[in-house]
Amino acid sequence: MQNFMLLDGKKVADAVKVELLSEITRFEAKWGRKPSLHVVLVGQDPASKIYVGHKEKIAAELGYQSRVWKMPESISQKELELHLQKLIADPLVDGILVQLPLPQNLDSDRIMQMIPFEKDVDGLTAEAFGALAAGHAPAVSCTPAGVMEILKFYQIDVRGKSAVVIGRSQIVGKPMALLLLNADATVTICHSKTPDIKSFTSRADIVVVAAGKKHLMSARDFKEGAVVIDVGMHRDENNKLQGDVNPLGLDKIAKAATPVPGGVGPMTIMMLMKNTLKLAEFRMKNGH
Ligand code: NAD
Repeated sequence: MQNFMLLDGKKVADAVKVELLSEITRFEAKWGRKPSLHVVLVGQDPASKIYVGHKEKIAAELGYQSRVWKMPESISQKELELHLQKLIADPLVDGILVQLPLPQNLDSDRIMQMIPFEKDVDGLTAEAFGALAAGHAPAVSCTPAGVMEILKFYQIDVRGKSAVVIGRSQIVGKPMALLLLNADATVTICHSKTPDIKSFTSRADIVVVAAGKKHLMSARDFKEGAVVIDVGMHRDENNKLQGDVNPLGLDKIAKAATPVPGGVGPMTIMMLMKNTLKLAEFRMKNGH
């Protein structure tokens, strides 16, 4: 395949950041304050601490009035709910993110569903998901929103295209399928119970792989000229990041593809920041 295009997520994230900085300046001029993101981190999970550290750093670079609430692993459901209620009631808190996974003694579902739609910066509550299905969500789950931003940046038109999403999680697969559908693609969702996934991917113009299985797909599973988006993230034995797609020979078949690392990953945090601003604007305009 001639003219293979590497979809560079870092480049897109940098472009979104530049745009965000000027939008934040406009927001501050209009409303007299910066947007604010509050992250709740419970316990000592090493990966969660790293992710939250990255979020804290980028929020600081954008000048957000943000705070990370570090809670002990021993916190009770009631104490955590009381803390969340305070953040929910605080008019200066725009976005609330509870870092998952929570310790097993806590009811994650109940905690997540407490967050009101207008502060749900990850678009994970039933209300936010319903708004996405209806096509008017102010904030959409960050990773699929980042994929759409990459497609837009590289002017990959999805309208009328056949798209396959592999994975149906609440955080990636399902919102991804809805976003593609809202953008007028013809969408098929494949998952762990789908027999012969290749029979779907080999006919698709766009394939988003979010199965959480290292190198589940490879070049021979796609049609010539396909756009392949790899959401997967796995550390191999050499501590190198690998995706759900084996990149070997992909550039000979696909028209465009995201690398791992440096594809979808860098977009997720930037979309979290964009969502925070969108929710801040939504609340200010709607008098919440
Ligand atoms: P998940 O485990 O919640 O869901 C995986 C989905 O894939 C399920 O719906 C399941 O039905 C499907 N699946 C599992 N095995 C399959 C198989 N063999 N064939 C077809 N479908 C299969 O995972 P998730 O949270 O949706 O994340 C998916 C992947 O994306 C993971 O590797 C995760 O680390 C990565 N991820 C990356 C980012 C990022 O910023 N790059 C963000 C979120 C998730």
